[in-house]
Amino acid sequence: MAAYELVIVGGGNLGLWTAYHLAKRGMRRILVCERYWAGYGATMRSAGIVRQQGGSETAVKLGKWSRELYLELANELGVDSGFREVGYYVVASSAMEKAVFQRLVELRRAHGVANEWLEPDELKRRLPYVDWDRFAGATFTPNDGFVEPAIIARNIAMAARARGVELLERCEVRAIEPRDSGYAVVTDRGTFEAERVLNAGGPRGARQIGALLGIDIPVAASRHMVMSFPTRPESMPPDFPMMFVLSSGYYLRPDEQGVLIGFSNPLEQADPSDRFLLEFDWDYYQSIKSDWESAIPGLQGLRPGRAWTGSIDYTPDQLPIIDEARFGFYVLAAGGHGIMWGPALGLKMAELIVDERVVDLPADEIRLSRFAEGRAAADAIHLPFPQ
Ligand SMILES: Cc1cc2nc3c(=O)[nH]c(=O)nc-3n(C[C@H](O)[C@H](O)[C@H](O)COP(=O)(O)OP(=O)(O)OC[C@H]3O[C@@H](n4cnc5c(N)ncnc54)[C@H](O)[C@@H]3O)c2cc1C
Repeated sequence: MAAYELVIVGGGNLGLWTAYHLAKRGMRRILVCERYWAGYGATMRSAGIVRQQGGSETAVKLGKWSRELYLELANELGVDSGFREVGYYVVASSAMEKAVFQRLVELRRAHGVANEWLEPDELKRRLPYVDWDRFAGATFTPNDGFVEPAIIARNIAMAARARGVELLERCEVRAIEPRDSGYAVVTDRGTFEAERVLNAGGPRGARQIGALLGIDIPVAASRHMVMSFPTRPESMPPDFPMMFVLSSGYYLRPDEQGVLIGFSNPLEQADPSDRFLLEFDWDYYQSIKSDWESAIPGLQGLRPGRAWTGSIDYTPDQLPIIDEARFGFYVLAAGGHGIMWGPALGLKMAELIVDERVVDLPADEIRLSRFAEGRAAADAIHLPFPQ
């Protein structure tokens, strides 16, 4: 008998949630190998936004389930979830976007998400600090919010360990060798025999871990940037609702007593190396900042407090991968939405491992084969990722 039923490569939000759900379903002997520390990859660098306003059935469902799972986990642990429910406006800039967004409202409602379409007149009344004449309207969900990434990484690591999961930090997986039954996972801290292996390596690991077995995993790392302003305009209330201007690719949320803005350069290229992508693109920041300063004039002249970048994971259709790529070798990737979807992705991966199938999600939005077969259709609501 192999020492472990499952070795999970990667102790980010996805790997840890999967470990937790599996342990909860009764699986024993689960080992998570994390080359740095739990949450130290994309998870810790994220902006923490949890949005149920997806652009596909999968995105909507994963967002809704994940929000609920964050709250449930906190109850189980008896700590605060770190979830701050401030509401979220996803802004349409053209008549074409408006038509798409209005169809999405129906989809979201059909799956139990409170979502409405709002015209600029109503938006002016609600958020007078925004110049709504520039926009065609917005969708709104009152119970979207954000989490503090360090808190959720702590919570899920704590919950998984409390249920018997072994978490080995500073443990890098270097090779995976198929055996007659199961795999040998070779790490810099020894070799572990496992019946099954899960690749949850994230933006800087999933592709490389797949390659160890000759499997192409279309997950790449791309630079994503966040700027935090220590103060906010007087016109904006402390817990102002979040806002995502889809066509410009930026979003904002409260951050301490200030404002946090996240954005990606659409010309950004994928970085296949193993580097942390840490260079802030000041030129792009200078070029895009006039966009949000026109939309929210109060932001003009605010001095930045801190700025950071991170490697965001993306898949070609911005949707997740939940699949068994090879007998006993599973792949889980978030398509750049691993905070808003992580808890539910872990749930669904646990379902695949234990029940050998995933229910309630369309196969064409989660299977690995969709890319090779040309069946991947992009989610309508996402950051401007590289092609
Ligand atoms: C700046 C920024 C802002 C973001 N904002 C949001 C947001 O607001 N909302 C949202 O939903 N998403 C956001 N994201 C995306 C989100 O952070 C990711 O989708 C999510 O964290 C992915 O989780 P993961 O567990 O797949 O990857 P990771 O958190 O990267 O975890 C993978 C882990 O695998 C480990 N690993 C890799 N290779 C090996 C190996 N060989 N051996 C052992 N361990 C290995 C890594 O060290 C890492 O800790 C953001 C990302 C960035 C960079």
